[in-house]
Amino acid sequence: MIRQLVFATNNLNKTKEVSTLLAGQYEVLNLKDIGCTTDIPETADTFAGNAGLKSHFVVENFNLDCFADDSGLEVEALNNEPGIYSARYAGGRGDEANLDLVLQKMQGQQNRAARFITVISLIQNGRESLFEGTIQGTIREERSGINGFGYDPIFQPDGYEITFAEMDMEQKNKISHRAIAMRKLIAFLKEQAV
Ligand code: IMP
Repeated sequence: MIRQLVFATNNLNKTKEVSTLLAGQYEVLNLKDIGCTTDIPETADTFAGNAGLKSHFVVENFNLDCFADDSGLEVEALNNEPGIYSARYAGGRGDEANLDLVLQKMQGQQNRAARFITVISLIQNGRESLFEGTIQGTIREERSGINGFGYDPIFQPDGYEITFAEMDMEQKNKISHRAIAMRKLIAFLKEQAV
């Protein structure tokens, strides 16, 4: 029997990608599919906490197994900011303003180390499991590249001479924090399904 599993997101691309990977074993539904229109609060102070708030919300209100993700950028010299505030670092003025604020705060800074993190919270049969993916890199002095979103134009992953925004989607999706966490989730779910 094919089990249902909710991905607590409104992002159709993310849903489609996971659906394909789990085809035949799980039917993946997103928030729209289950009629959830609530803007689920992300008020925790960790990535795991925020992912857990979203997955718990769905389980409690819709009584379906669910997973949710939360991601962000941590810059060492900025005390790991923007961290959980990555999406609203410049006060909700959008991706460009967030990126500019990081560049401005990093001016003249020698230590350019940073990492992207994704944490996924899965609740299946009432039990929570967490999956983490990280990618280490450095913050460029200036933006470079036009692909991707968010902080991609200033993040250069270790072992590469180009930023995330200079990679095509296929290349980024092989090495990204999100891809690493998703691979761990998929492996776990496939094990559960047999
Ligand atoms: P979310 O939890 O996946 O929605 O990510 C929260 C925020 O972190 C985004 O709005 C971006 O600012 C930043 N972020 C997360 N993942 C990436 C990425 O792969 N590239 C660039 N920025 C990212």
